[in-house]
Amino acid sequence: MLEERARRERLLAREASAAGACRLCAIGAQRRNNVYGEGDPCARLMVVGEGPGETEDLLGRPFVGRAGQLLDKMLGAIGLAREDVYICNTVKCRPTLDGPRGPRNRAPELDEMANCRPFLDRQIELVSPDVLLALGAPAAKSFLGRDFQITKMRGRWYAGPGGTPLMVTFHPAYVLRQTGGEIEAVKRLVWNDLKAVRAKLDEVEAARQSPTPAAVAPEQSSLFGS
Ligand code: SF4
Repeated sequence: MLEERARRERLLAREASAAGACRLCAIGAQRRNNVYGEGDPCARLMVVGEGPGETEDLLGRPFVGRAGQLLDKMLGAIGLAREDVYICNTVKCRPTLDGPRGPRNRAPELDEMANCRPFLDRQIELVSPDVLLALGAPAAKSFLGRDFQITKMRGRWYAGPGGTPLMVTFHPAYVLRQTGGEIEAVKRLVWNDLKAVRAKLDEVEAARQSPTPAAVAPEQSSLFGS
């Protein structure tokens, strides 16, 4: 396993270097850092967001702002530490709009996601996760087409690249934007989706180690605890 981990790390580093040199989209020339992705190269869960935001662009790491802190809590609620998973985005460069106070984040365009898709596909191929978790509509559209409607179609299992089970839920940044009673309602939906992910990971592991029974899904105790 150590050899395999080292092999994947080497190949992912090579891909990261290729992404770092890529200028296929206009955003490639505007970025401060390419945000290729990070995490366990042998992760059982791969989390795919939409694109780097300002903090990610600054640090060259995915999900490190407020949304990243919430993602860490979400993962913790299903018994996973950040370093247990592999985290990346559909596009590796920060999509921006010009604003009066400088560039603002925006969702990636379909052509940017299409341009960047080979990098994402190669990450999925190399990490070979048991489960994919797409966060937000752009990530879902990248896998499931432009007609995907997250409010109606999240929370179900889809076949991702190579047949990998794919779950879609709301992006942590969307959760953070909610106000009033909407916050709890959206958190409940996200929690249901996360429990499904945990159950799928346990199911796959149980099948691998048959006849070990699948672990019981965790109760809602620690999700978004603060
Ligand atoms: S978003 Fe992807 S394809 Fe576009 S310039 Fe950046 S690395 Fe290249």
